[in-house]
Amino acid sequence: MDVVRKAPYYGWIEVITGSMFSGKSEELIRRLRRAQIARQHVQIFKPIVDDRFSADQIVSHSDMRIASQNVPSSDALISRVDDETEVVGIDEGQFFDANLPAACNTLAGRGKRVIVAGLDQDYLGRPFEPMPQLLAIAEYITKTLAICVVCGDPANHTQRLVASSDRVLVGATGLYEARCRHCFDPTLASVEKV
Ligand code: ADP
Ligand code: ZN
Repeated sequence: MDVVRKAPYYGWIEVITGSMFSGKSEELIRRLRRAQIARQHVQIFKPIVDDRFSADQIVSHSDMRIASQNVPSSDALISRVDDETEVVGIDEGQFFDANLPAACNTLAGRGKRVIVAGLDQDYLGRPFEPMPQLLAIAEYITKTLAICVVCGDPANHTQRLVASSDRVLVGATGLYEARCRHCFDPTLASVEKV
């Protein structure tokens, strides 16, 4: 039987995930830049909660930058995506609401390549919703590792250095560092210790 192609193009979901400082934003920017060089229609979003660097740009810790739009929710993101857009980039996926996986599915169903970067774990090493749900439905997953600042091994954890039980505590310098499984200590961030 002949293969039936349903549309002139089709969409899918790519997820880039790992700890802080592992190069998620760099990898997202690299893929989006290549799409722009190929003259594809690209739109880039990040959640409004992440205002640590710049209002209308994604900025990596190594100072790579790309223009982006702030959105308050995944529903708002969907409504901002133009019909002609071929590639949708999303940073800080873990700060979106639980509808992000459904929103990405909708966009992929409309033929768009959707690329999402986000933390896989929170400061206690727990899966950081909605990233686990997104990983389950993505076609392609890239797991990035940082370098443990204590011992130099590959780092899979985000170590919070200040005591706070807020799941979302936005910032980087002085607040977080990358650590491997051995050097990661979730009790460092425990409020009771202070
Ligand atoms: P993420 O989006 O995952 O937080 P970025 O893409 O913003 O990561 O930044 C990655 C860059 O951060 C690296 O290329 C490197 O220049 C820098 N960096 C700083 N600390 C570390 C670390 N502990 N491990 C790896 N890279 C680090
Ligand atoms: Zn270590």
